[in-house]
Amino acid sequence: MSKVIDLRSDTVTRPTPGMLAAMNAAAVGDDVWGDDPTANRLQGMAAELTRKDAALFFPSGTQSNLAALMSHCERGDEYIVGQMAHTYRWEGGGAAVLGSIQPQPLEQEADGTIPLAKISAAVKPFGTGLGTHFARSKLLALENTWGGRVLPHSYVLEAAALARSKGLSVHLDGARAFNAAVASETTIADILAPFDSASLCISKGLGAPVGAVLVGDKAFIERAHRWRKMLGGGMRQIGSLAAACIYALEHQVERLREDHDNAALLASGLREIPEIAVLGQATNVVFLNIPEQHAKPLETSLASRGMLMQGVYAARLVTHLDVSREDILRFVASVKDYFAGAR
Ligand SMILES: *Cc1c(COP(=O)(O)O)cnc(C)c1O
Repeated sequence: MSKVIDLRSDTVTRPTPGMLAAMNAAAVGDDVWGDDPTANRLQGMAAELTRKDAALFFPSGTQSNLAALMSHCERGDEYIVGQMAHTYRWEGGGAAVLGSIQPQPLEQEADGTIPLAKISAAVKPFGTGLGTHFARSKLLALENTWGGRVLPHSYVLEAAALARSKGLSVHLDGARAFNAAVASETTIADILAPFDSASLCISKGLGAPVGAVLVGDKAFIERAHRWRKMLGGGMRQIGSLAAACIYALEHQVERLREDHDNAALLASGLREIPEIAVLGQATNVVFLNIPEQHAKPLETSLASRGMLMQGVYAARLVTHLDVSREDILRFVASVKDYFAGAR
C-alpha cells in the first residue's frame, strides 16, 4: 500500500524520525512548577527568534489566541477583527464565551486586509459622556498568512500605527507567520515587529504534533500564563512536546519553501483541467472551484487511490512536509484521470 497523500491541511503532518529522536531524548519536568527544562528552552528560543521579551508554550493555537485576547482585553472591552478571521469565526466564539470580550468583526478585502477607514470608524468613543454607551475598543487583531496570502507589510505597518494612535494594542494570529516570513524572504522577527503579541502554530507546516507559542512583552506573557492555567492549558512533563517544537524551529522552517513550490506546481497542474477553476495560490495553499456535481465524486475517486482532499465544503488544498513533488504530480494525474472518465 503506497502512502496516503493528504492535502486536506498542513495539520496532518507526522513527526519526522529526527523529531521523534529529539522528543525521545528530551529532558522533562513539571511545567506547571516551571520545572520543564525543554519547555523553558523552547520559550527562550521563541522569544529570541521573534525578538519579543517573552514566550509561552500552548497546546493549541486556539488556546494561545484566546489567552492573548484575554490578556489584552478585560470584560466589556472589544477587539476589532476580520469577519472571516480565525479568532472570530473558527474558534467557537471563545473571546465572547470565555473572555467576555465583544468582537467587532469588519468585512475584509480579498487579500485579508481590513480597510483602515473601517478600523478607524469602528473604534468607539471612550470615557465619560458618550463613551459610557460603548464597549471599550482595546485591540486590533490581524491574521498572517491569510488564506495562504502574505499580508502586505506596508498595510500591516499602517494598520498597527493607526491602532496605536487610537490607543489600541495589536495582536497577530500568526498560525502560518513562518510561511509569510519564508515567502517574503525575511525573518519571523520582521514579520512580527509591528505587533505587541503574536500566536505562532508549530503544529501546522512546521510539522510538530502539538503546540503553539505566544510571544509578547513580559507583563503580557505573565497575564497569559495565568489565563493558560485557567483555560486548562497548564501541562506537566511537556518536554518531549517542546522538543518537537524546538526541532521544528531548528530544522523545518526553511523547508517551507518546498511546500510553496509544491503548491505552485499543484496550481499550475490543476489549471490544465478545464472543469476546475484555480481561484488562487499563495504560499502553501491552493483554492479551487470544483463544479458542485463533481466535488463529492472527485473526493471519493481520489480517496480510493489514497489521496485526500476537501472538495465539498471549501476546495482548499494545502501542501506540507509529508507531500513531495512526486506526490503532487501523482495527485494532479489522478484528478486528470477522474475528469477524463467523467467527460
Ligand atoms: C489552525 C489555526 C489556528 C488555531 O490553531 P489550532 O492549533 O488548530 O488550535 C489559528 N489561526 C489560524 C489562522 C489557523 O489556521
